[in-house]
Amino acid sequence: MKIRYLGTSAAEGFPAVFCNCANCTAARADLARERRTRSQALIDGVLLIDFPPDTYQHALQFGVDLSAVRALLVTHSHTDHFYAQEFVNRGYKFASGMREPVLELYGNAEVRAVFEEGTRRELRSCVAEGLRFHTVSPYDSFTAAGYSVLALPASHTPKEDALLYAVSKDGKTLLYLNDTGTLREACYAALAERGICADLVSLDCTQADGEHSASGRHMGFAENEIVREKLVKYGVVKPYAKYYVTHFSHNSAPFRDRIGAAAAARGFIAAYDGLEVTV
Ligand SMILES: [Zn+2]
Ligand SMILES: [Zn+2]
Ligand SMILES: [Zn+2]
Repeated sequence: MKIRYLGTSAAEGFPAVFCNCANCTAARADLARERRTRSQALIDGVLLIDFPPDTYQHALQFGVDLSAVRALLVTHSHTDHFYAQEFVNRGYKFASGMREPVLELYGNAEVRAVFEEGTRRELRSCVAEGLRFHTVSPYDSFTAAGYSVLALPASHTPKEDALLYAVSKDGKTLLYLNDTGTLREACYAALAERGICADLVSLDCTQADGEHSASGRHMGFAENEIVREKLVKYGVVKPYAKYYVTHFSHNSAPFRDRIGAAAAARGFIAAYDGLEVTV
């Protein structure tokens, strides 16, 4: 399983869209190295996790053929994770020679509502035929693009059932934990019950080592350590599992060298835009 991090920032981006703080100003001085775009991951070129407004830019920068993507897992409806309007361009006169005629979309009821709202004005019926939306609830398991997927409840917002995903194929499992605070006990139990054992764990690290009181909606290194301990305790990670951290806020000064060293000191690997990992 090849996992490519296409974007690794929190909602505002790094440097942030409207920000001139010291961190963002320094990042602008070396954009080629320091910039982080909104979070998205691609598995084996065919399964996408989340669809931020930066998706088009990701495709240009990393040479991704978006028409070859067979399925999309959406974690939740926040703008940095789901930009529905783009789908009106997937067909008609706007797209020829697409590798896959149909894209299967998976998300909660709120993501479905945003999808319908965002495409209502411009989606042609011939384009709609190539977009199949499946509503997902916590603890649902299903097959997407040939991968076994288990959806788990995130601790993120009371307004919708934000989802975490365990994605498995050929004995390899990715645990994708964006956006969320520390996981509720039932999540670990659900993984254990189903015999899921992760090779790679990707953790929300919005606050990293920055000053923060645990919001319960996101994590920093301290919360990441709690989650890692629990995963080990429940036996749902392989002994050689790797722990990547991502979804950094500009307030956490997520400069590549700084955040890489801070993560490594705690046994984590800091993801960056374009990083590819094979498990
Ligand atoms: Zn987010
Ligand atoms: Zn800033
Ligand atoms: Zn969010």
